[in-house]
Amino acid sequence: MARQFTHSPHVVVLGAGYAGVMAANRIAGAPDAPVVTLVNAEAEFVQRIRLHEYAAGGMHPTVSFDGLLRSNIRLVVAEVSRIIPAERRIELVARAAGQHPDLVNNSLEYDYLVYALGSNQLDKTSDSYSVNSLAGAAALRARLGDPLPSAPLVVLGGGHTGVETAAELAESRWAAAAGAHAHHRVRLQTTGLLLPGASEKTRRVAHRDLRQLGVEVVEHCDPAAIPSGSIVIRCTGFANATVAAASGLPVDLAGRLLVDSTLRCAAQPLPPEDGRTPSDKAGFDRIFGAGDGARISAPGYEYVRQSCAAALPQGAHVADNVLRALRREPLLPLDAGFVARCASLGRSRGIIEFVDAADSSRPFRLTGWAGARTKEAICNMTLTWLGQERTAHKRYRWFSGPRTLHAETAASRPNTPTQPVLPPADERYAR
Ligand SMILES: Cc1cc2nc3c(=O)[nH]c(=O)nc-3n(C[C@H](O)[C@H](O)[C@H](O)COP(=O)(O)OP(=O)(O)OC[C@H]3O[C@@H](n4cnc5c(N)ncnc54)[C@H](O)[C@@H]3O)c2cc1C
Repeated sequence: MARQFTHSPHVVVLGAGYAGVMAANRIAGAPDAPVVTLVNAEAEFVQRIRLHEYAAGGMHPTVSFDGLLRSNIRLVVAEVSRIIPAERRIELVARAAGQHPDLVNNSLEYDYLVYALGSNQLDKTSDSYSVNSLAGAAALRARLGDPLPSAPLVVLGGGHTGVETAAELAESRWAAAAGAHAHHRVRLQTTGLLLPGASEKTRRVAHRDLRQLGVEVVEHCDPAAIPSGSIVIRCTGFANATVAAASGLPVDLAGRLLVDSTLRCAAQPLPPEDGRTPSDKAGFDRIFGAGDGARISAPGYEYVRQSCAAALPQGAHVADNVLRALRREPLLPLDAGFVARCASLGRSRGIIEFVDAADSSRPFRLTGWAGARTKEAICNMTLTWLGQERTAHKRYRWFSGPRTLHAETAASRPNTPTQPVLPPADERYAR
């Protein structure tokens, strides 16, 4: 098949969430930027971290891509159905037919691909609600709208998303209209503990705040024990994009693309029962992954959790490595760590629990009004960081990873014995 981009390399970024927008802006901002195409199912940027607010009656969580993306990025609003690595091609279902001349037969060729499809898939089979995607949050919002339902709300899952959702619903118009009727209260039930990874003190604060908001918390609950007639909101985990698995790329059990420490598709040997030959793996090295849709399989990165806090630095790092690959420079391993875990509990309370780089709790936290203001500021900062990378290349910086990882990545700077394997030589990229 004739290649479409013979003069300038073409980088396609799949998914315009936090990781994808950061990656696209950073690649497109380089002085030697390739042609960058960003493919996304939605026509606007969805602030996923605000979907629980939207479901409970808050502001619409979308932002126009106009103010977020560099002008030299081509946005294609379409759904990616499959990646064909050996042909360096993706197949799309276009949302607006014929919008781009490059879309030949709903197919797009690339030289390098960034897989940033996240974890916002809508569960169309479940009869419960979810705040995982814009469509899911909109459905819940509509259900809680006029006429107000009299059924109680049951939030399943005691992690940060469950806590934030239960608190937001308890403060919502639905709860206000429900008034003092005991059966209208919000119930949060979990098979384990509330905020299981948090410190004892943080968990106590969360219990207290939820109680004051009128949320009934039930820990160690039988998963089948859901009060009949209730409206169920499932916050028991994210639903990862399925495109990597459907394309025969290496994935973990949850369907996340496996990448190595440089965020490049981990083309590790396939087990014999896999049935694929080495030639089937051709092109894996042209694929990078970042954000919720990818998992770093290299040892030492087990601490990385699916979060906006991880997606932003991964988006920036993957951009730097794609540019290195284009320049035929050695790829560098990711060195990124956490600072805090944040939860809003309605509009006037929040918990910011500080953590070390490997995401373990430290004995410091902001709670109450200070926690709420800080959480709100962090949510706003995510848009600022994406916007800054739009105007100034490499403006976005992030915190280092755990010390062991940091030492390892420092040792793998170019010209040291541990430097990673060079990307395949391709004369077209020699500059
Ligand atoms: C209610 C809620 C609150 C949260 N709060 C926090 C928080 O306070 N802090 C925090 O760190 N994290 C939080 N998170 C998690 C955070 O939102 C995610 O970890 C983050 O969005 C991951 O970013 P991403 O770029 O990897 O993927 P996403 O943000 O999921 O973006 C993926 C993009 O890919 C697009 N896409 C998917 N499939 C396709 C396809 N087949 N074709 C084309 N496009 C496709 C999607 O439309 C989307 O635009 C929260 C999540 C939820 C649901």
